[in-house]
Amino acid sequence: MEEEPEEKMIEAALRPKSLDDFVGQQRVRRQLSLLLEASKLRGRSADHVLLSGPPGLGKTTLSMIIAAEMDAPLRITSGPAIQHSGDLAAILSSLTPGEVLFLDEIHRMSRPAEEMLYMAMEDFRVDIVVGKGAGATSIPLELPPFTLVGATTRAGLLPGPLRDRFGFTGHLEFYSSVELESVLRRSAGLMEMNISSEGYSEIAGRSRGTPRIANRLLRRVRDWALVHGVDRIEAREAAAALDMYEVDARGLDRLDRAVLEALIHKFGGGPVGLSTLAIAVGEEVETVETVAEPYLVREGLMGRTPRGRVALPAAWEHLGLEAPEFPTL
Ligand code: ATP
Repeated sequence: MEEEPEEKMIEAALRPKSLDDFVGQQRVRRQLSLLLEASKLRGRSADHVLLSGPPGLGKTTLSMIIAAEMDAPLRITSGPAIQHSGDLAAILSSLTPGEVLFLDEIHRMSRPAEEMLYMAMEDFRVDIVVGKGAGATSIPLELPPFTLVGATTRAGLLPGPLRDRFGFTGHLEFYSSVELESVLRRSAGLMEMNISSEGYSEIAGRSRGTPRIANRLLRRVRDWALVHGVDRIEAREAAAALDMYEVDARGLDRLDRAVLEALIHKFGGGPVGLSTLAIAVGEEVETVETVAEPYLVREGLMGRTPRGRVALPAAWEHLGLEAPEFPTL
């Protein structure tokens, strides 16, 4: 769903601006910090970086931080926006030396553009083809040194040759409750909200390990508190606000529950193919696969088998149902 302009402004204000402000992901943060430090000492632009992991864990934020730490401008684009190699050539040829190019959803770029990117990443050069058929010639074009930051929710989908051209790959993990509480404390401070420790942990527990969701839930709690004239938010108020928005105590939202309900009620717990499941809940396959599934699997509610997705006993329990004696595993 598109967010309101005000929501976007708040979201931008809440983005950490430096690696020190960036909560969690300690391993990736340390490795990145070293990479950037070494590049600065060498006076060179940093090696290309690939960031993978579910949506909302901070890939865009990290690319902004990389640019800021390198004191370099940032250009943002995405795989689906690059359908022809000409689109990519136009972007690459207009980069300034040292610029950071953030390419979101890199796995969705077209094949010809991908091939052009190989050469650009390795040799800082592209071949522009002019004309058609027998008269076609290719003109080599030198590019300034740049740092590509590619982001993908599915690193496994990237062709090997593309993956190999990144000097560093960072996999972002879901955040722990303690880390999410830190994200929330920082955001609540910026939004001047008054929340108790229990209030933070209630919101963190419903945030699906994802800072973007934590910040979104925090804004909903803020709305609820404003309308109800509540100055200090305790666990009870946070729970009441989030129940109203159909985010349950385990952080499952309407889509997650729809997936589990379809699995159990329509397919007897599975196994069922992902595309059939997506049709049953009226969603795109990619949404179910990248948004709902990783969290449901991580929570032990859904399993993946070679024959399809299955509901695990905890799913029945979570929906207040009795699990069959021999769950289909
Ligand atoms: P997508 O791939 O869907 O764009 P993303 O992984 O790029 O998602 P971001 O847009 O970088 O996610 O982050 C979402 C929001 O979460 C940001 O606005 C930021 O405020 C917050 N955020 C993300 N990571 C952190 C973090 N480590 N510490 C504090 N806030 C964070």
